[in-house]
Amino acid sequence: MTAATDLDRLAAAVIGLAGARSAAQIADYLARPLHDLAGVTYASVYLRARTGEPLRLRATAGLAPAGLTDRIEPNDDSLIGRAARSTTWLADDGRLAIPILLGAEVVGVAELVGGSGLGGDETRATVTALTTIAATALERDRLRASERSAAGDARTAAARVTSFSRLGALLASAVTRDDVGRLLVEHLVPDLGAEFGLLYVPDQRDLVYRLVHARGYPTGLMRNESTISAAADGPVTRAGEARRPVEIGSPDAWRREFPTSSDLPAMTGARSLVAWPLGDGERLEGVLVIGWPIEDQPNDEAREALVSSAAQAVQALERARLYAQEREAQELQDAFISVISHELRTPITTILAGSRLLRRRTTRSPAVRDLAVDVEAEADRLFRIVEDLLVLSRLERRSLSVAQEPVHLSHVVERILRSEARRWPTTTFLAPDHAEIRVARGEETYVEQILRNLLSNAAKYAPAGSTVEVVVEDADDGVAVRVLDEGPGIARDEVEQLFTLFYRSPATAATAAGAGIGLFVSRRLVDEMGGRMWARPRAGGGSEFGFSLSPYPADEDDEEPEPIEPTAEELGATEPIAGRAPVGSRTRSG
Ligand code: ADP
Repeated sequence: MTAATDLDRLAAAVIGLAGARSAAQIADYLARPLHDLAGVTYASVYLRARTGEPLRLRATAGLAPAGLTDRIEPNDDSLIGRAARSTTWLADDGRLAIPILLGAEVVGVAELVGGSGLGGDETRATVTALTTIAATALERDRLRASERSAAGDARTAAARVTSFSRLGALLASAVTRDDVGRLLVEHLVPDLGAEFGLLYVPDQRDLVYRLVHARGYPTGLMRNESTISAAADGPVTRAGEARRPVEIGSPDAWRREFPTSSDLPAMTGARSLVAWPLGDGERLEGVLVIGWPIEDQPNDEAREALVSSAAQAVQALERARLYAQEREAQELQDAFISVISHELRTPITTILAGSRLLRRRTTRSPAVRDLAVDVEAEADRLFRIVEDLLVLSRLERRSLSVAQEPVHLSHVVERILRSEARRWPTTTFLAPDHAEIRVARGEETYVEQILRNLLSNAAKYAPAGSTVEVVVEDADDGVAVRVLDEGPGIARDEVEQLFTLFYRSPATAATAAGAGIGLFVSRRLVDEMGGRMWARPRAGGGSEFGFSLSPYPADEDDEEPEPIEPTAEELGATEPIAGRAPVGSRTRSG
C-alpha cells in the first residue's frame, strides 16, 4: 500500500462522508476506508439513532467473523457495548472498538478485527479523523431529518387547516339541514378515510332521529334506519342522550355493546365507528356517525378533526333550523294575508257600493240615513284595510310592481281631499295652492292610497273641528306632499316605529280604531316608487306626515297634463276647491 494510494483512499473517504445523504451511506463510507487504511481483515460500523437507544450494525467491510451481532443494547457487556459507554478505544483479543464521538456523545462504534498496525500513530490519527468526520456527517443527517419532519408536520397541519376552512366556507352557504348534511358527510368521509358517514337530526315533535344524509351506507340499511326512535338503544340515541361521543373500536366491541342489534360491522364493512353528538348541553342539533374500514378509529387526529367540524356543523344546523322556522312562519303569514286580502275584497267592495247607494237613496228617516252613513264609513274603512293588506301580501311575495308614470300630484291631492272631506265632516281640509310644480314619477293608484292613509290619519287622530292642511311643493329631491294636522302630535323618538308593521302608538291607540298597517304600507309604496317618506312633530303642536317622489323626466312629459274629469262620486262635493279655501264637503246629514 503506497502512501499515495492511502492518501487517495483518505481523500475519497472524506469526500464520500461529506456528501453522504443517510446514516447507512455514512456507515458505509466509514467502514470501507477503515478496513483499507487500517489494514484489518474486517471493519464494522454500529450506529445509534438517538441517545439511549441500542446500537445497530449499519455497515461492514472485509471478512465478517462468526457470531456477528447486529444489535447492541445500551447496557451490553461486550467490547462494543462497553465502548459505547466510553470515550476511549478499547481492545480485546485482536479486536478494537472505537467510539464514534460527537463532542462527548457516543453516536456509534467502529470495530476493527485482525489488524496489525493499529498502534501506529499515523493510523490512529487517520481513524480518529475519519470517525470524527463521520460523526459530524451523522449530526448533519439528523438535523436534516428533523427539519424534514418539521416541514412534514407543518404540511399536515396546513392541510388540516385548509380542509377545515374549506368545510367552514361550504357550510356558511348551507341554508337547509339537507345542505348541511350533504356538505358535512361528503366532506368528512374522504377526509377521515372513512367507510361511511351519516347525519341524523333530532325531531323533537315525533321523538325520532331523522337521517338527513348518508354516504357509503348500504341502501337497504339506509331505508330501515331513515328514522330511529329516540327510545331505541344504539350509538345514535346513546350519543344524543349523553351528549358524548360513542366510540366502538372493533366488530367485537360492537357485538358486546349491542348484542341484540343487527351486525352493523358485517353489513357495512366498517370495523370501528363513532356516533358524535352535534350540540352542547342545551340543545342537540344532530348526531354524526362515521364508520372506518379499520379498527380503533377515531384516532387522535380524527378526533381532533371531528371536534372542529362538529363545532362548525352545530352552527350551520342551528342556522338552518332557524331559517326553516322563519320560512314556516313566513308562509303562514303569507297565506293569511293572501286569504284576507283576496277573500274579503270582493264582498267588501259589494258592501261599500251598496251602502253608498243606500245612503243616497235614503232620504226620509234621519235615523236610517245615519245608519247608512255609518255602514258606508265602516265599509270604506274595511275596504282600505283590505287594500293595504293586498299591497302587503304583494310586498311579501315580492310580486308588487309599481309603474313609473307621470303623476300630477296637485290633481291627485285635490281629488282625494274631496273624497276624504266627505268622510270627515267635522274636519276642515285646506287644499294646496295652485302653484306650478313639477310632474312626479310613480303610480297614481298607489299615490292615492298613500294620500288616503295620511289624510284619514290626520283627521281621525285629531279632535273634531281641527284643520288638516296639505302642501304640494317642489323640493330639492323631488315633488313633495306634506300633510299637516292639529292632532296629538308624535314623539320624535317614536317616528321610525310608526312606520313598522302593526305598530300603534300607545299614546293614541285608544283614541281611534286602526290596524297599524297604513303607514308601513305607505312608506313601502313610496320606497317602491323611488321616493322618501317622513313624519315629524309640528312646532306648534300636531304632526306632519309627508312624502316626496322624483320628478318625471321633463323630456318624457312635454305635453300638457290631461284635464282630470271628476268622477260621479266627486261631483257629489258641493263646494268648489280654490286656493287655500277649505275643501267643502257635505256633513254627515247634508
Ligand atoms: P293605524 O292608524 O291604523 O293605527 P297607521 O299605520 O296608519 O295605523 O299608523 C300607525 C300609528 O301611527 C298609529 O297607530 C298612530 O299611533 C300613529 N299615527 C299615524 N298618523 C298619526 C297622526 N296624524 N298623528 C298622530 N299619530 C299618528
